Amino acid sequence: MQSDNLNPEPVVERVTQQTSQTPETSLSDAHESSFFLTHRAQLEHAMGFIDVAAHVRMILFEPRNELIVNFPVRLDSGEYQLFTGYRIQHNNMLGPYKGGVRFHPEVTLDEVKALASVMTVKCALLQVPFGGAKGGISLVPGDYSRDELERISRRFVHDLGNNIGPEYDIPAPDVGTNSQIMVWMMDTYLNTHSRKDKNAHKGVVTGKTLASGGSRGRNKATGQGVTYCVQEWASENGVRLDGCRYIVQGFGNVGSQCALLLEKLGAKLVGVQDHSGSIQNPTGIAAAGLAAHATEHGGIAGFAGAEAISDDAFWALDCEICIPAALEDQINAEVARKLRCRLVVEGANGPTTLGAEAVLKQRGIEVIPDLMANAGGVVVSYFEWLQNKRTESWPLEKVDTRLWSMMRAAYREMRAFALEKGVDNRTAALAVAIQRINQVYLERGIFP
Ligand code: NAD
Repeated sequence: MQSDNLNPEPVVERVTQQTSQTPETSLSDAHESSFFLTHRAQLEHAMGFIDVAAHVRMILFEPRNELIVNFPVRLDSGEYQLFTGYRIQHNNMLGPYKGGVRFHPEVTLDEVKALASVMTVKCALLQVPFGGAKGGISLVPGDYSRDELERISRRFVHDLGNNIGPEYDIPAPDVGTNSQIMVWMMDTYLNTHSRKDKNAHKGVVTGKTLASGGSRGRNKATGQGVTYCVQEWASENGVRLDGCRYIVQGFGNVGSQCALLLEKLGAKLVGVQDHSGSIQNPTGIAAAGLAAHATEHGGIAGFAGAEAISDDAFWALDCEICIPAALEDQINAEVARKLRCRLVVEGANGPTTLGAEAVLKQRGIEVIPDLMANAGGVVVSYFEWLQNKRTESWPLEKVDTRLWSMMRAAYREMRAFALEKGVDNRTAALAVAIQRINQVYLERGIFP
């Protein structure tokens, strides 16, 4: 068991599982691989452009703690089901572990490990004083009632016990989870920890509803950050967003919020894909109408303001910008060859495979990588955490202004590195982030 001053009594044994897979070393390989391998290869590639101490490389390739909890939950039928929950704490050199909790049938240990590592570099790039973590449970949220989801969420947090906390590890929403689930998680933590600290501990989870301690602007934060990146790219490349056509994969929190914001800038949503199907409308799809339809029907299929098309046809739609906002590994080499856009903005984490990245590079399609593009969520989570600590409630203008300034600073740092070294944006963003973590390791040294 690993000791940690911030967490004297962890209740869960540390489980270290070595993957049987070995990291890739070349980004030129045109084959497809899992997001776990893709991310490791990208880290290694970026480290080739900077000085990183050997021990820091070694540390960053493995998460610090891997927690696995198996817990029973009573279903509405009266039967019990055993769930497996993961919480991976990748690195806390820059601050408390931070990262979302995913409820999705494809959640695996390797996936959560890679997503936790992305959080570490994302926070470092954005200069948010957090480390990286991620959690998840493999389940189909739609298969469970609201009451069952509440019991699953509460029991997961109960079993994580002292392994999370407002100064130690702070979960947030991700695929399949939302602000209500975050409130149940916070409430469970508060009810199972010291009464005198009840209000002080609200920041144990971010992405809560406004009434229960959330921040203004958190719901749209990730989409807002994606939109700021699009605006920076457009101004750098002399592209007018008014009339600019774009497609979105995934119309959940990130995808729908992007669409609502880009619509305000005059951009035209010409195609959308989610788990229920793909649709197009060359004259533009109304974002608010589609969001309401998706909420009511559980997906975009059947929306009256667009025509259904095949999933293949979706990727080949003529547009300027493509925004993947669903899951990992969605843009593979085959999809990358079909795309007819100038820019891919990764609202999702890890949507582009190594093979696809090579094709995009060769075709001159620019990519704004996940750790930059979707960082708005963790930045506003940081603001929520600060507001909870200080018992403050910031106006939306303050949230947006500070988010914009942090996103712009990171974006410009990424672009400056990319231009100076002649590398792609992902390599640049990772290099800037790793340099920052490396410096702190060198200054602080390794205990004892
Ligand atoms: P969400 O659950 O709200 O929405 C997910 C969307 O993906 C849904 O529209 C769903 O239909 C779609 N989808 C699922 N499987 C699909 C498939 N096979 N093909 C096409 N579409 C599919 O999730 P979200 O919070 O919007 O997260 C989306 C992505 O953004 C994830 O990669 C997540 O890690 C990343 N992200 C989210 C946040 C956040 O604040 N929510 C922050 C940073 C990054």
